[in-house]
Amino acid sequence: MTISVKSKTLPSSILGPEISVVPDDHPFRQEFRGWLAENSPGIPEPLDQDEKFALRRAWQRTLFEGGWAGPAWAEEYGGRGAGPFHQFMYYEELALARAPFIANTPGISLLGPTLIEVGSEELKSRFLPVMLSAEEIFCQGFSEPDAGSDLAAIRAKARLDGDEWVIDGQKIWTTWAQYSDFCFVLCRTDPASERHRGLTLLICPMDQEGVTVRPIEQISGDPEFCEVFFDGARAPAAYAVGGVDDGWTTAMILFQFERGDQGFTDHSRMLVHLHEIAAELREPRAAGRISAAAAAQARRRLAALWTRCQELRRFNLRVAARLEEGESIGMNGSVVNLFWGELEREIGELTAELHGARGLLLGTEPGHEVLATRAGTIHSGTSEIQLNIIAERLLGLPR
Ligand SMILES: Cc1cc2nc3c(=O)[nH]c(=O)nc-3n(C[C@H](O)[C@H](O)[C@H](O)COP(=O)(O)OP(=O)(O)OC[C@H]3O[C@@H](n4cnc5c(N)ncnc54)[C@H](O)[C@@H]3O)c2cc1C
Repeated sequence: MTISVKSKTLPSSILGPEISVVPDDHPFRQEFRGWLAENSPGIPEPLDQDEKFALRRAWQRTLFEGGWAGPAWAEEYGGRGAGPFHQFMYYEELALARAPFIANTPGISLLGPTLIEVGSEELKSRFLPVMLSAEEIFCQGFSEPDAGSDLAAIRAKARLDGDEWVIDGQKIWTTWAQYSDFCFVLCRTDPASERHRGLTLLICPMDQEGVTVRPIEQISGDPEFCEVFFDGARAPAAYAVGGVDDGWTTAMILFQFERGDQGFTDHSRMLVHLHEIAAELREPRAAGRISAAAAAQARRRLAALWTRCQELRRFNLRVAARLEEGESIGMNGSVVNLFWGELEREIGELTAELHGARGLLLGTEPGHEVLATRAGTIHSGTSEIQLNIIAERLLGLPR
């Protein structure tokens, strides 16, 4: 797919007051901004899912060729060794350029950094380059029908047969499984084990008889995630990531990357979205679609949401500062997750109201977007689970 460049980068002032450690004139920002102005395809992404995925894959390829696909990865693995403040600026610039998402997020943000930390040299050289270039796509096989929030209840199992793992079980809600070449699957490898013991993270090839993928249609109309059935599926013995029977440790390392990465990405895309809503509310046309009273209420909600996004931006910056000091994100990841999920959903609701009945129509851009934001408080851990973590582990309240 060819990418046609049609976006103009928004000024960074729309993100809020300038912050001195990540200033507008930082050379890293300036370099990436210049590159994005030349290369970003901008919005909107196509509504058709196959076309959208193809665009994201082509876009990741473009980033890769420009040396911008995985800035947080060390240079020896094709990244730029960008620290947390640089990642913060990277995601802000992507949002300002209204760049699409990439195709291989589970690979670049989750499995890749985990491989770099605990993977064998064989796995690193086999998978990291193709992950970065989007030549091969990866999906995350953690959730099961009875093991979502309670991940330690995993039942998918794997046993060694000669030099191969044989995997049996079912995964669910596996995003982009239908486009993936590999799934990183959390399996029970010690049959006598319970809960978080005796698990292993395995990389399983998808293109084989033992793997069946059934897409599930979401409320937005997209069959974005899937059921994945493993019936005697095979993976090389060497495709275990981290220690065998120590998959819980590997999974926790992977989650640290998920939470850290999310903290850098969220506020900027939402602030750009709020900027677009503000532009609509300034247009006289908007007043025609909704009543004057509803427009006044929308303006108040917009201001409140913008203020909360500013708080999230500041919080994310504090997280980045702690990561720069070598600390881990820890429980702060739950605060970011909760904040972001709720904000995204409320921004979706405001968008819906501004578009009246059209705001809930499938097949329209606002309708699609509004319905897609409902997932914000579920994936990456539900809001209830984040609240439990904050209450118990940050505030020390009883279970
Ligand atoms: C868009 C989307 C994409 C996803 N992509 C992936 C993916 O690629 N790979 C993957 O592995 N998973 C993926 N997931 C799954 C996601 O991680 C789970 O949906 C999530 O962890 C919740 O699990 P569950 O759906 O089984 O809900 P359940 O755990 O069954 O929860 C149901 C309800 O009960 C509440 N609840 C559960 N336990 C508690 C508790 N202890 N205290 C209070 N309330 C509780 C929950 O908050 C929720 O409201 C995706 C989900 C979505 C929505």
